[in-house]
Amino acid sequence: MIIKFLGTSATLPLPRKNCFCPICCSKDKRDKRMRSSILVNKILIDCGPDILKQIEKYRIKPEKIKAIFITHHHLDHIAGLKKFSQLIKKQIPLYASKNAWEYFQKHFKKLNFAKYITKSNKKIKIGNLIFQAIEIIHPGIKPVFAFKILSKNKTLIYMPDWKIIPKKSVKKMIKTDILILGGSSLKRNLPWHSPIVEGIEFAKKIKAKKIYFTHIGHLTLPYKKLLEFVRKSGGKKFNIAFDGLKIKL
Ligand SMILES: [Zn+2]
Ligand SMILES: [Zn+2]
Ligand SMILES: [Zn+2]
Repeated sequence: MIIKFLGTSATLPLPRKNCFCPICCSKDKRDKRMRSSILVNKILIDCGPDILKQIEKYRIKPEKIKAIFITHHHLDHIAGLKKFSQLIKKQIPLYASKNAWEYFQKHFKKLNFAKYITKSNKKIKIGNLIFQAIEIIHPGIKPVFAFKILSKNKTLIYMPDWKIIPKKSVKKMIKTDILILGGSSLKRNLPWHSPIVEGIEFAKKIKAKKIYFTHIGHLTLPYKKLLEFVRKSGGKKFNIAFDGLKIKL
């Protein structure tokens, strides 16, 4: 499995306009973040407003994408769907919840994708990967999925937006090889997101083997300091994702 981070920001890209915080003023390239999205082999998870910039920056041919999975229908995860669908000639599967599809039909009208409805726990096989949606809580919208992706005996969990993980969902995440989870803030508890300090505790609780924080907002720290922080509190297995980062599993 090859995982590429196309974007790693929270709701708004970084740097934010007219903000003079240490992240928005940072000269480190890793502090420049577009909306969160990853590519797992040739499958895209989430398709936010920056998708066209992302495929151009990383020289991804749109026709090479085999399918798209959507975690939830907040705009930072779906606003690029229409533009993306206009680029492709043949329909590819778009997997999203029933509620998300209702939203697409109402607001995007025509989308050039094959409609597939994601249901929790159902396994979907694409090539040599198996995708399983795990329901989690991220208040204000329903349902919200984390995706568990299996390849041979290895597992990856991707959950950019999360607040509470129900017990039966926790069980499905135990000892994952890689956990990619949202870190919108460092310590502050936001109404919709859990902070990084809680993410560290969660990753320890499920005994994740390697952890990457994504969906990073400017209530955190610049890249280098943030990496230092998570490693100090959690150990060497903790990492901070950045745009363009490629990892293998
Ligand atoms: Zn989000
Ligand atoms: Zn800022
Ligand atoms: Zn969200």
